[in-house]
Formats: sequence, C-alpha cells, structure tokens
Amino acid sequence: MNQHLSPPPVPFIDIAAQRARLGTAIEAAVSRVLAHCQFINGPEVAELEAKLAAFCGARHVIACASGTDALLMVLMAKGVGPGDAVLCPSFTFCATGEVVAMLGATPVFVDVDEATFNMDVVSLKRGIATAKRLSLKPVAVIPVDLFGQSADHDAIAAIAREEGLFVLDDACQAFGASYKGRRLGTFGLATATSFFPAKPLGCFGDGGAIFTDDAAFAEILRSIRVHGQGTDKYDNVRLGLTGRLDTMQAAILIEKLKIFEGEILARHAAAERYTQALADVVTVPRLAEGCDSIWAQYTIRLPGHIDRGQFAAALKAKGVPTAIYYPKSMHQQTAYRNFPVTDNGLPVSEKLSRDVISLPMHAYLDEPTQARVIEAVRAAVST
Ligand SMILES: *Cc1c(COP(=O)(O)O)cnc(C)c1O
Repeated sequence: MNQHLSPPPVPFIDIAAQRARLGTAIEAAVSRVLAHCQFINGPEVAELEAKLAAFCGARHVIACASGTDALLMVLMAKGVGPGDAVLCPSFTFCATGEVVAMLGATPVFVDVDEATFNMDVVSLKRGIATAKRLSLKPVAVIPVDLFGQSADHDAIAAIAREEGLFVLDDACQAFGASYKGRRLGTFGLATATSFFPAKPLGCFGDGGAIFTDDAAFAEILRSIRVHGQGTDKYDNVRLGLTGRLDTMQAAILIEKLKIFEGEILARHAAAERYTQALADVVTVPRLAEGCDSIWAQYTIRLPGHIDRGQFAAALKAKGVPTAIYYPKSMHQQTAYRNFPVTDNGLPVSEKLSRDVISLPMHAYLDEPTQARVIEAVRAAVST
C-alpha cells in the first residue's frame, strides 16, 4: 500500500450510500410506474400523500413540484398581493422571501436568534410595526425551521394571533423534526416542505408538499396545483400553476419514507457525536427548549481569530468539504436589497452570514469518516 495515498474525499451529503442501501427497491418502484404509464397523478401520488399525512399527523397533504411551489401556492390561495407585508427571517434560503415578492407583496425581513438561527420573536414584533409604519398590511409570517431545527412555533403563533396574521411554516429543511413532541406539518395554517435531493427526505429530482388541517383550504390548494381548475375541467376558477409532483418522484419517495425513521435516528446520533467532539473548540449548534432538529445541516461558528476561508481551505486539503449557508442574508442580496428590514436592522443575520460554516452531515456518516472531519476541524482551529 502506498501510505502517501490520501483517502477519498468525505461526501458532504452521501446520496450514493442511501442509494446503495435502498438496493433494488427504487428500481422496482420506478418499473411499476413505467408499467402503468400514469406519469401524472398516478396512484403513487395519493399513496404518498396518505403516508406523509400519517407520518407527521397533518390531516391533508398536497404533494407538489417543489418546496418553492409549496410556499407560493399557499400565498396564492390566501390571495396575498400588492400592499400586503409578509414577515420573513433574512437568514434563510432565498425562496422564503422570493415567493412573497413574486406575488407583488412585500417581504419584510426580520432578524434571527444567534443561538438557534431561527426567527427572533422580538424582531418579528418590530418588523410588524415597521410594516405598518410603511403603510403595508401585515398578513402573514413565514417562520423557517432552519437547518432542520423547529422554530419557536408557540411564540410565533401567539404573535400571529394577536396581529391577525396567518402562519406559513417553511419546513423545507425540517420535515421529520418536531416541536414540543409534535411533528412539523401541524403548525400554523399550512406547512411547506421540499424533497430536493439534498434535503433530509429527498427525491431524485424536484418535489415538495404542503400540509394543512383545513379541508377547505386543501381543496383550494389542489385547484391551484392544476391551473386553478374547478369542478368542470375546462372552467378554471382561479389562477394556478403546473404545480404537481411527478408520479415517478412519488414512487421513489414512498420507498425512501420506509427508511426515514431510522435515518432520523442516525442523524441525531451523528449530530450528537459532533457536539461531543467539538463543543470545546467551536460554537456548536444549540437546540432551544422544546425544539428538535432533523439536522439538515450541522452548522458551527468559529472563534473570532479563525479566518473562515482559511479554515475551509485547511479542511478541503484533508478531503473534508464544507459549505456556507448563507454567505449573504436575503436583505444583503441584489434582488432583495430594496425591501424593508425591521427598524433596528438585522445585526445577527449579518454576523451569522460572516461566521457560520456547515460540516458534512447525513444519515450515513459513519464514525471513522466522522472522526476524520472532527480531527480536521480540531487541527484547523488550533493553529
Ligand atoms: C430548499 C428550500 C426551499 C425551496 O425548496 P425547493 O424544493 O428547492 O424549491 C425553501 N425554503 C428553504 C428554507 C429551503 O431550504
């Protein structure tokens, strides 16, 4: 053996390991769809919706084409538009605020909590006041369960109730996580999730779902999913989208859902090992009281004297990839710079954008591989 040969790079998310574990189940599921040829609205779509509902406890599930469409369709169903303000955290993936702006409404960006990375309820209150001062009508809040950790849903619900807002939970990174013992998908008016391959429950392409307990609202969402169709197929009663989930992706997700509970436990174990091994050298993620995470990302913060770019380069040299979610908060991005932010600014979002970094994280992160990541992190911060 050539002892200078370095081991292969660690995958950031190991989709191939999951693929191997699923074995021929995926091929069989895809073959069934190829045999029945119902590529749109095939039986697997309704089957998946029922299984997702049972999994998280939501009454109604509407599978759709992406997490972004899931968010958009809820806002469309509520008639959100010009003059309306929707409160969003700035430290998030862009789709959270994008769907608001796309409908001509105004995203009003609020700050996040430094320890949990999730919406800061004090900043949310200030943001509502900011919106009113700007003569906008606050209509909704979109808490994000960032990196897989549930937001503080009780505190957000209390403010929403007080202010007459509806809550759309952006759980695109967090399906499988829970809040005070209840799975996400059951908080607020509706919850959106994504099945993008890198999400904790991913398909082999784009996909998403909406969860709601409101039967009438679910019917509107089903109509929007297909161009706003009414009971007469050729009399469309509202504006809609081509927002469906492909049967093929539904068939794949049914197989993946079978192993998801086990994967959740494996993610918890991997996160716990990181926390045990790194808490003394970097700021490790913290779960708030009552909150649980599916660990879509394991995101750390570096001590002040460590340069993030150099840290990432040092890990990369050892075959350990990292990622920065998010180097710019939404209000710092070109397309969103002119939207309002809560009155006293977003100092925490800006600070996090400067110093967070995410480590490899997935359900197949075995101990020897993880030890390599841990060793590389410890070496890089001790120099
Ligand atoms: C991934 C993601 C989305 C969008 O999901 P897509 O399926 O990629 O459209 C929305 N919000 C958050 C927070 C996300 O992480």
